[in-house]
Amino acid sequence: MKKIIILLGVPGSGKGTQAKQIVIKYNYGHISTGDLLRALAENDNMPNEEKEALKNMKKGALVPDWLIYRLAFREISKYINNNQGVVLDGAIRNLKQAEKYQEYFINNNLANEVLVIEISLSDEESFNRLTKRRVCQNCGEIIPYLKSTKDLVSCPKCNGKLVIRKDDSEEIIKQRIVEQGNIALKPILNYYDALGLLKRVDGGEDIGEVTSQINNFLK
Ligand code: AMP
Repeated sequence: MKKIIILLGVPGSGKGTQAKQIVIKYNYGHISTGDLLRALAENDNMPNEEKEALKNMKKGALVPDWLIYRLAFREISKYINNNQGVVLDGAIRNLKQAEKYQEYFINNNLANEVLVIEISLSDEESFNRLTKRRVCQNCGEIIPYLKSTKDLVSCPKCNGKLVIRKDDSEEIIKQRIVEQGNIALKPILNYYDALGLLKRVDGGEDIGEVTSQINNFLK
């Protein structure tokens, strides 16, 4: 099984949910740059340049690439040195980042270990999912908007409070879809397709079905 699994998809496509399944099943490290950035934002002692860079996040825009590399490459090497694979969840959001990660993989003898999976979803469905999904304030569990979950008042895992994420407001979501929707994703997909690394799964399917298709790719 490949050591570097890259999940691509528009916001709300289920990358986080699927990454967690891979982490549980294969003991891989979960690298969500969104989570790393949110953790960084909690730290009052961060350097000024990082504070400045994080302002983009609040507006639904991408943060500068250098900050992503700083956070992600350190995490990747931590897991790889520990003999674990990694799932990259939302860690690549423009072509330049895709190229820079590939350079990093080549320099670290990992180029043959890369598998890229697109979880595809329309921009319209992305908008619907994001305006209605919730997250557990305590353990970070994502509660998608489904018939079975829409009436939940607390986290089924830890009983924590369910909240709408700060950057899930309608205005900001619209902005995120402009910057991180299918138009923005296309050049990244083309890049990996040309390298022969790209697989695709329909993110509109049930969560379990998407998981099982991903597991088939991983074998
Ligand atoms: P997420 O939780 O994955 O939706 O990410 C939340 C926010 O973090 C995004 O809207 C971006 O502002 C920022 N972000 C996460 N990953 C990246 C990345 N690879 N490049 C630039 N910005 C990112």
